[in-house]
Amino acid sequence: MGIEIINTGSELMIGRVLNTHSQWLCAQLDSLGYTVSRQVTVNDDGTSIVNAVKEALSRSEMVLVTGGLGPTTDDLTRPLIARLFGRRLLTDGSTLERIRGFFAKRGTSVPFHCEIQAQYPEGALIIPNDYGTAPGLLIELEQNPFRSKIGKAVLILLPGPPRELRPMFTERVIPLLREKMPPAENYVSLTLKTACTGESTIERQVAPALEELVRQGLEIGYCARVGEVELRLSAHGSQAQQIVDQAETISRAALGEIIFGTGSDKLEQTVVHLLSERHQTLSTAESCTGGFIAHRITNVPGASEIFMGSCVTYSNKAKINLLGVRPETLNQYGAVSEQTACEMAEGLRRRMNTDYAVSATGIAGPGGGTPEKPVGTVYIGLSTAQKTEARKQVYNYDREAFKTAVSQFALDWIRRTILTLPQ
Ligand code: ATP
Ligand code: MG
Repeated sequence: MGIEIINTGSELMIGRVLNTHSQWLCAQLDSLGYTVSRQVTVNDDGTSIVNAVKEALSRSEMVLVTGGLGPTTDDLTRPLIARLFGRRLLTDGSTLERIRGFFAKRGTSVPFHCEIQAQYPEGALIIPNDYGTAPGLLIELEQNPFRSKIGKAVLILLPGPPRELRPMFTERVIPLLREKMPPAENYVSLTLKTACTGESTIERQVAPALEELVRQGLEIGYCARVGEVELRLSAHGSQAQQIVDQAETISRAALGEIIFGTGSDKLEQTVVHLLSERHQTLSTAESCTGGFIAHRITNVPGASEIFMGSCVTYSNKAKINLLGVRPETLNQYGAVSEQTACEMAEGLRRRMNTDYAVSATGIAGPGGGTPEKPVGTVYIGLSTAQKTEARKQVYNYDREAFKTAVSQFALDWIRRTILTLPQ
């Protein structure tokens, strides 16, 4: 039996907000061994929400609804659900206290209508919200009125904001799900994360070696992102753990150091971790990436131990004044050149006195390309006390994907250098 997900919100239907809940919830549920049989997104008008809930319940015994639990007039989910099941809306005293406490801590009075979020359909279980004001709700139906097959159903309502929904789901909803609807069978899934190698290369390297395990029930999935491929190994049934463990051993042997992590690991986390283990430091001299490498590094908790700083040197002047790039180098070879990338990295490493300094200078486009240096050309430099080098890459992507690809190359090069692996 599958779980159905209903994401509500007109902002999702007009493309103002990307529906990240559906992807995030599906990934979470998959890793727990649940099957999502359907996901729909609907406008937050009464008819759309009610119809979607009725339809989902006509097929499934577990339905998750996101959004519309807030205090504004477009937040309708709670009263609609109460009416649909003929339940009264009651007010929960402890949620009311929480809401008042939430605003008292911020030194403000409770905004207009906010206390409405303490309401719940009679009989619902309240899922406290530790990151916002609207609690989630779990409604158990002893008899699902929309299904011809006699039986129970569970409806879970979750708040819309991702920073509230995600921790609530992880901390509070997963234990409830396991209790109310344990996964049908044992399921094991492992994701191996690789950097800077194409998915067909990855497939060519692992697939033949995994053939025997596929016959025994191993499922293999490849998910390609910019500069990164995820290899997912999963299996159902009593032998699942054994099959996935064997598949991991084989894949690691086949892919070796291309693998930088597992699960939801990020390349920047691996780099920060490796540097802090070694008490080494990093700085970044960035032109075309505009500080994006530094941004990724500083997203990692504990980055301050290893990250000394960054110079975003977009102009030639900045490259000369802040990094010590020689004007002759810029005149002779241009800003987008191996020589400039090396001088940027080395100049910053000396100024910041770090173990590693990485640089990036390139043509993000859409304009500015030449026949010798087409749009997408980038030189990435890496300087250590031993040597300074630069590598040329061509990433003909849009500007954001270009930055991601360059940062991915730079971070993976640092990782490989720290581990003394060939690049
Ligand atoms: P609030 O108290 O903020 O109104 P709510 O439970 O009523 O919470 P919504 O009003 O539906 O939730 O959504 C609040 C915000 O959360 C939206 O403006 C949107 O930015 C974000 N959000 C909602 N649903 C999604 C989704 N499916 N994917 C990504 N973001 C979402
Ligand atoms: Mg809202």
